[in-house]
Order: sequence, then C-alpha cells, then structure tokens
Amino acid sequence: MRLAEPTQLQEGLVIAGHGRHVWIETPQGRKVICHARGKKSQTVVGDRVLWQASQDEGTIEKVLPRRNLLYRQDEIRTKSFAANIDRVLWQASQDEGTIEKVLPRRNLLYRQDEIRTKSFAANIDQVLIVLGAEPEFSDGQLSRALIAAAAQDIAVLIVLNKRDLGALFEAAWQRLAPYRAMDYPVLATAFKPLAEGTSPSQLPDDTASLRARLTGKTSLVLGPSGAGKSSLINLWVPQAQVLTQEISVALQAGKHTTTSTTLYWLDADKKSALIDSPGFQEFGLHHIAPMDLARLMPDIHAQAQDCKFYNCSHLHEPGCGVRSAMAADQGPISPVRYKIYGDLFDELSQTRY
Ligand code: GDP
Repeated sequence: MRLAEPTQLQEGLVIAGHGRHVWIETPQGRKVICHARGKKSQTVVGDRVLWQASQDEGTIEKVLPRRNLLYRQDEIRTKSFAANIDRVLWQASQDEGTIEKVLPRRNLLYRQDEIRTKSFAANIDQVLIVLGAEPEFSDGQLSRALIAAAAQDIAVLIVLNKRDLGALFEAAWQRLAPYRAMDYPVLATAFKPLAEGTSPSQLPDDTASLRARLTGKTSLVLGPSGAGKSSLINLWVPQAQVLTQEISVALQAGKHTTTSTTLYWLDADKKSALIDSPGFQEFGLHHIAPMDLARLMPDIHAQAQDCKFYNCSHLHEPGCGVRSAMAADQGPISPVRYKIYGDLFDELSQTRY
C-alpha cells in the first residue's frame, strides 16, 4: 500500500553527469540521481528539469499489523517463514528519480566533429577561458572556443593565469594582443600564492576583479589542461574536491571514465556558479557553415565590410577587404588568425556525412 499518492513532478537543476545518468539538485539543496526516460529527456549540466521520484525503488515506512507470524528459533536467532506477505506502507525512493521533462534552454554550448555532437553545458551566462603562461596555449583551440561561443551569442572572458612566471607570462600576454584588440576582456591572474623569490609580471593582478565578474553568473570554465582550472575552482569552492568525490561515487564513474562536467556553487545563496567541463582539446566546429565563419571572428568580420562581393570567402576573390588588410604590414588582422580562418574554412567545407 502506498503511503502517499505518487509524487508530483518536481523541479531540479542538473549539476553533474551527461546523457542518461545525471545528478540533480532540488531547490531545497537535496541531490538526486536521475535517469533519462528516453532520448528526449537527455540532459546536460545547467539544464533545468522536471523530475519524479523513482517508482521502482522505495522505502518501507511501516509494517501493518500482522494477523499471525509463523517462525522458528534456534539458540541464536529467530527466522520467520512468511514475512514476505507482510502488508506494508511504503513510499517511492527520494534518492533516485527519472527526468520527465527538460525545461526550455536559454542556450547550449556544444562542439561537433565528423561523427558526433558533444554538449558542454546549457543556460550559461559566460564562457571563462583559462589559459596559462605555461603550458603554451594554442591559438587554434582558443579561436575555436571563441567561435563556438560567438555562434551561440555567449559572452567570453579570457584569463591568462600564472602571472608569477614573469617573463613567460609577458610572452603569453603579447600573444593575446590580437584578442584584446578584438575587445575580448583579458585578465591577468594567479591562482596560487606567489612563491618567494619570484619576479611576477608588472601587469596588475586581476584575480579579485575576476571574482567580481563571476558574481551572479553561471560561467562555463574551459581551457587546456595545466592552465589552472582546478586551482581556480579550489580557490573559491573549498568543498569542490569532496563534491567531485561524492559525484563519482554516486554516478559510479569508474577509474576509466573521464571526469564529468560538474557545476559548483560559488556562494551560499547559489546565485553564482562555475561549470567545469573537459573537452577544450578537441573542439570540433562542424555545426558551423564555412560562410558563417567570418561573422564569428570579429577581426575578420570588421574588414569583410569592404568586400566587393557579398558572398566573398576572403580567400581568393578580387576586391576583398580582408585580403587587402592582410597585404598591409602590421595590419588589423594577425597572420596567425588569418591562417586559422583559412584552415577552418577548408575543414568545414569538407563533405559532411
Ligand atoms: P588544470 O589542468 O587546468 O585544472 O590545471 P591545474 O589547476 O591542475 O594546475 C596545473 C598546474 O599549475 C598545477 O601544478 C598548479 O599548481 C599550477 N598553477 C595553478 N595556478 C598557478 C599560478 O597562478 N602560478 C603558478 N606558477 N602555477 C600555478
């Protein structure tokens, strides 16, 4: 006999996992493992969902009075013969549930290669790209992330971390000049306390202003491995490691599975969040048409206004504003960025399957 009517649909926020098994958090702060009912209810971190407590598992709350009970007893213990015909009051498990509906998404950042699409997260306010003075970052990967964010109209904030590594930092900062010229905000940070005897960069430390720029927002943290993403999360989310451990146990992520995307709250009233997501290294852009690329690259786009042909590819046409800008010494588009444009144009023009 059921203790109460089947539970109503409840609201939840997906905070970890991908696809069929995810961890959601209720508005009261309870965490529940949820399974997707079908393809339509597959979710990504940041999704708001309606879920229902599992009807397949439950807890016995009360055993109703027995008419009789046949049992045997030896020196040590008592065993009943027929306990399984007990009548009980039970209720559905509140630790597991099914996702019944994914609420409309404000946005969804994803990448796509020849074969599949992989989502990073949904409903994000900004993408925070963390680069380090070392290891050396790739302009190609950085540009891909910027293009993907622009395609979804999501704001970007770039951080160059490890400003304590003076000369290395200055060199990396110089390499980011074209991005600053495109008006992407670029901040200089250190997520580790300065070691004694180091000569940090002369650039002002923006770590505190980064914290302010994260307030009240959900930020998706992307960046190459080794740049300082975990250090950033551990700096401002002291319970992060405990949470990660809890999640991997709950979702039974074995040693062989890669770490899943996770949402961490930055404040007690849960207004600001960081979403940590792997996948920066293989940033496929196959969901973007080659002719849309220029529009998503601000430096190319600015010069494309002067092209003679409206459908100029900026690769070989006469009267092309981009190519004439490239002909100038120290022009407004860096050769690195123009090469990335051309390579991506080729890559996205390959036959799609
Ligand atoms: P992730 O792979 O992006 O998560 O990078 P981690 O946070 O694991 O950091 C990679 C390495 O860089 C670790 O050894 C960190 O201790 C180190 N690290 C992080 N922030 C700083 C920093 O501001 N300065 C220096 N010198 N090292 C840092």
